[in-house]
Amino acid sequence: MNTPARKVALVSGASRGIGRATALRLAEDGWSVAFCYQSSEAAARELQEELRSMGARVHCQACDVTDAESINAFVDAAQKNLGPIDALVNNAGVTRDNPLVLATDADWRTVMSTNLDSVFHFAKRVAFDMMKRKRGVIVSMSSVAGVYGNPTQTNYSASKAGIIGFSKSLAKELGPYGIRVNVVAPGWIHTDMTKDLPPKVAERVKPNIPLRRLGSPEDVAALVAFLVSEQASYITAQVVHVDGGVMI
Ligand code: NAP
Repeated sequence: MNTPARKVALVSGASRGIGRATALRLAEDGWSVAFCYQSSEAAARELQEELRSMGARVHCQACDVTDAESINAFVDAAQKNLGPIDALVNNAGVTRDNPLVLATDADWRTVMSTNLDSVFHFAKRVAFDMMKRKRGVIVSMSSVAGVYGNPTQTNYSASKAGIIGFSKSLAKELGPYGIRVNVVAPGWIHTDMTKDLPPKVAERVKPNIPLRRLGSPEDVAALVAFLVSEQASYITAQVVHVDGGVMI
């Protein structure tokens, strides 16, 4: 295994949106970055080149986060390439919005396996090594929908609330080993996930945001970068909002 010159961060789902901005920000902060994508191969390769041009060591791999074996293969290859994982950022996520009476079992399973099962599988894969090394930090992407609830998002809100319970328990388990576990709860952020909001919903959203704008992926990346840094060394078991003060 290589001895890493820099600390290594692994970001799930970084081909687009918040994950992409996070990978870029972490590279800017001097991290080596392993990231995965599901199907956006061209965008992932473009990001890989951009990260390399910034001087970062990079590992990029297709990995379906709904599949535990795919996750294990990705983590193993990333570690072989870059060294042990110091920071895990569970970012990959999807929505399948519908009122409950129209919601399907298939959508429920897709949302839960992508958003929540993946957090369990990634954390389980890196935790033992972090415990042995007595260092490490895990940050997982929840949502204000997981805190307040949101109509048409019962599946999504359940998955994001699950991340909060999971992370609070894990923070208590791993704290004695010097490992921190936190959750980020973004509000409305400009990405592909929100670009198809019906105009009626978009109109309703802004007046409920005290800062009167949607956030940028970089707004969220800055918070993740802080939480994985030494500056946050006494912060664990927290849900930190980056939402412009939104009320939903
Ligand atoms: P996005 O623009 O839709 O990007 C999603 C990313 O996740 C893509 O890189 C995608 O890869 C990857 N992904 C999806 N399913 C995957 C799978 N099965 N295996 C591997 N990768 C997968 O989403 P985003 O808005 O940046 O959201 C990022 C996270 O923030 C999510 O967890 C989301 O729930 C959370 N969040 C977002 C908002 C918001 O307003 N945007 C608000 C609160 C929370 P491909 O490109 O290959 O498909």
